Amino acid sequence: MDIKYEVKTSDKLGRYLVAAKDIRAGERILAEQPFVLGPSSDTSLVCFNCYLPLINKFFVCKFCAVAPICPGDGCPEGIAKWHVQKECEFFRELKLNLNMSPIKMVQNVGSLLTLRALLQRDNKSWDDFMKLETHLDQRRNSSVWEYYQTTVNFVSELKLLNDDDDKNLVQKVCAAIDVNSFEVRGPPIPALGYAETLRGVYLQAALMAHHCTGNTIISINDNNALMCHSSKDIKKGEIIYYNYTDPLKGTALRQEHLLMGKYFQCTCERCLDATELGTHMSSALCPACKTGFITKAGEKWQCHHCKEETDDSVIGFKVKCCENKLDVINKKDEKELEEYIRNVSLVLAPNHYLLIDAKQRLAGVLRDAINREPRPTKKMMRRKLNLCEELLPMLEVLSPGISRTKAITMYELHLAIVQLAKKEFDSREITGPEYLDELLNAEKHLKRSIEMLLIEPGNSPEGELCAKALEQYRMLKGTMATILDGIHEEGKVYVTEIDEERLNDVD
Ligand SMILES: [Zn+2]
Ligand SMILES: [Zn+2]
Ligand SMILES: [Zn+2]
Ligand SMILES: [Zn+2]
Repeated sequence: MDIKYEVKTSDKLGRYLVAAKDIRAGERILAEQPFVLGPSSDTSLVCFNCYLPLINKFFVCKFCAVAPICPGDGCPEGIAKWHVQKECEFFRELKLNLNMSPIKMVQNVGSLLTLRALLQRDNKSWDDFMKLETHLDQRRNSSVWEYYQTTVNFVSELKLLNDDDDKNLVQKVCAAIDVNSFEVRGPPIPALGYAETLRGVYLQAALMAHHCTGNTIISINDNNALMCHSSKDIKKGEIIYYNYTDPLKGTALRQEHLLMGKYFQCTCERCLDATELGTHMSSALCPACKTGFITKAGEKWQCHHCKEETDDSVIGFKVKCCENKLDVINKKDEKELEEYIRNVSLVLAPNHYLLIDAKQRLAGVLRDAINREPRPTKKMMRRKLNLCEELLPMLEVLSPGISRTKAITMYELHLAIVQLAKKEFDSREITGPEYLDELLNAEKHLKRSIEMLLIEPGNSPEGELCAKALEQYRMLKGTMATILDGIHEEGKVYVTEIDEERLNDVD
């Protein structure tokens, strides 16, 4: 693959990537295997070989007699194995020399990722790993430093460090992992389907600078390979950004996440704009004029319409109440979600992230109900359709270009249009040509959704959705052809009737 990026360095961004040539939206920028991959530090016990959870019992690797692994028939075939020979030999030495017990490993499974990184010190990529941003000074003497002391103690018990090593080497490795890792779906759990979330360090992707709208999209396939595509056109020399936060969270939450996890304050256009690019994702309704949106400026909130100011203590409290309420309601219940949306819409701006959260959940609840119920109502379909339509313009602003959430929303929107139109056509509320118009509209959304989903790896949930969307597309085309035939037939019948009338007239 030709190199599409180069690494640059600056005081503000550290090492970062820029486009080495013009990159079109949807082009692959980089693909790489993890330098290290493993469970997070607060994991429950997983198999050291395949990362499947070990719930009731485990076996011990028969070569080293230390590593806990899957019981019974062993680890499933076809998924990556991580208890490599080098590690197994190292563990075997530990058993022989230090009488290491498997229980020690079970107790320290949260340190496994750090241990596996340290075992790669003779790997040619080790220096690159050690060059990653760690923000060690900010972490020193903090609670996170204290937290990882367990890992430091564990590693020193293994006699893995040399006397001339940096005495903070283990903390540095923990920090490099914390600051630079990506979330990776673990192997699928037989019969349960969901997977443990792992963390992987990808040395090139880790160099991407953060931006709250970003210009790339990252996917990680079942073989743990990371792929980075451009989400929009990137000109030669422009910075290649990745959004490390959730675009559907308000600025305060995104900033908090970045500060806690990545140790920096984002100053992108969205973060500097109180209206969040006009979406008003953190705005409330003005208590004075009841129509304008108010945004926070220091200790005050000011209305963009009537300019009235309100104390942060007043609005902050209201937002907190709405947040607490969302925490306690049953988010699988259509009625509770509707009631929440109704009430909170009287306090917060319609695109407030709490409302968006509730609306997304409601769309999901409706989707499941429509799929599940034998006779879903038009009202449910219409509501789901409206929710998708409400979300889309905001997603266009916050995640311009190719976006996973947008692709899924467009797919769901297309489905709602198709289902509703079919029902209306079957009950003769709309005519053939009107039905066709609806399907053409649905096709437009479905096509865009597919265009975006095509970059997803086939063996991921999004890749599976892409396959489903392609199948839907084929069916949609079939339905459209049938309706078109019907319209032509009707036309023929109509013409024939006229002709017969004329003939009768002549008679
Ligand atoms: Zn296993
Ligand atoms: Zn072993
Ligand atoms: Zn930002
Ligand atoms: Zn106002």
